[in-house]
Amino acid sequence: MTQPRPLAILSALAEEQAGLVDHLQEARCIRHAGRDFWHGVLNDQPVVLALSRIGKVAAATTTAALAERFAVRGVVFTGVAGGVGAGVQVGDVVIGSAYVQHDMDASPLFPRYQIPLTGHSALAADAALLHAMQVACAEALSERRYAGHTPRIHCGLIASGDRFVNSASEVQGIVQGLQSHGHQPLAVEMEGAAVAQVCADYGLPFVAVRTISDRADDTAHVDFPVFVRDVASQYAQHIVTALLRSGTQPT
Ligand code: SAH
Repeated sequence: MTQPRPLAILSALAEEQAGLVDHLQEARCIRHAGRDFWHGVLNDQPVVLALSRIGKVAAATTTAALAERFAVRGVVFTGVAGGVGAGVQVGDVVIGSAYVQHDMDASPLFPRYQIPLTGHSALAADAALLHAMQVACAEALSERRYAGHTPRIHCGLIASGDRFVNSASEVQGIVQGLQSHGHQPLAVEMEGAAVAQVCADYGLPFVAVRTISDRADDTAHVDFPVFVRDVASQYAQHIVTALLRSGTQPT
């Protein structure tokens, strides 16, 4: 009998991955491309856990390794991000229905934001995985509280770039630029659109979920480590567990 292909769970930060590795059964650590890949079983599903590393190139390398070396059947990404959409607050969660690189600019050779030679700017999440993620987030977060209320779950465009965004004027520049090309970003981060592009190249289903750690403004860096440890890592573990339990991932 052939083994089912594993699902890749990519985390941006070690704190988010730690809880998943702790629960991994039949765990095997394989070192490849200077990275640790944790192969095993989580909630009865074969998985590979990896850290994306920070930034688009690092995340793309990790994703290509997952496709080439580990023959994964899909990629699920959990991480944190800065909220830039109206009403997207710290403690909320953004599920990416599409991904764009806000720093992609090969104009005038190609339209602003377009990935050269692909004809695409925004890349869509896999429809089935997106739906499964929405169900998983609703289940995982219904009992959670942040700042006295249940975290809101948003679904929309995630903008990625090789920049930690931490000023209101920077946010304005990114948002206005994207809006002038018909894109409405909800969150900014540094990996999602790169992972989406590699997944598109390999024909792999992909979805990302990001807990909002900051508003990408002047205070963006302040409580980042504490937030990641106390909030985001807990959310990530509950969401991944709910997703794997649902059994609706791609085959
Ligand atoms: N302090 C961390 C580095 C975090 S870099 C460390 O020492 O390891 C920021 C990470 O969070 C990236 O993975 C990025 O995707 C995400 N992120 C959160 N808020 C962001 C913001 N305002 N702008 C860009 N990326 C952000």
